[in-house]
Amino acid sequence: MFWGLSSVGRAPRWLRGGGEFDPRRLHHTKDIHMTNVFHKIFEASQHDKKSLTQKALKLAEECGEVAQAMLSYTKAPACAYKGKTKDHVIEECCDCIITAASIIHQVEDGNVDEAAMEAVILAKLKKWVEKSTK
Ligand SMILES: [Mg+2]
Repeated sequence: MFWGLSSVGRAPRWLRGGGEFDPRRLHHTKDIHMTNVFHKIFEASQHDKKSLTQKALKLAEECGEVAQAMLSYTKAPACAYKGKTKDHVIEECCDCIITAASIIHQVEDGNVDEAAMEAVILAKLKKWVEKSTK
């Protein structure tokens, strides 16, 4: 899987100056191989002591944070005061991706078949596009 992403000139607030990624690599390549990102998530997941149930609850919490950020960002009545921005929405969506990948890692007992996971994602993307373009 290959998702072209670039932070050059438009790095979100939460990524600027952050230590999570190697900024030099990010800026030189302008691209991130998502399989590498997932691999890093899986590595980090080894250190998370949460049970599967706790990770599922964490994912629900992160989805709630997406909802909170989106309600504020879209200025829903009585929600705009929280001052959430597009960057907050993106950050919370990324939290969901990380947490979901961590669940996959744990369900697979740390032996994720990344090629199989990629195939599942690509098949789902194909189905999504097919449904969306009817
Ligand atoms: Mg979050």
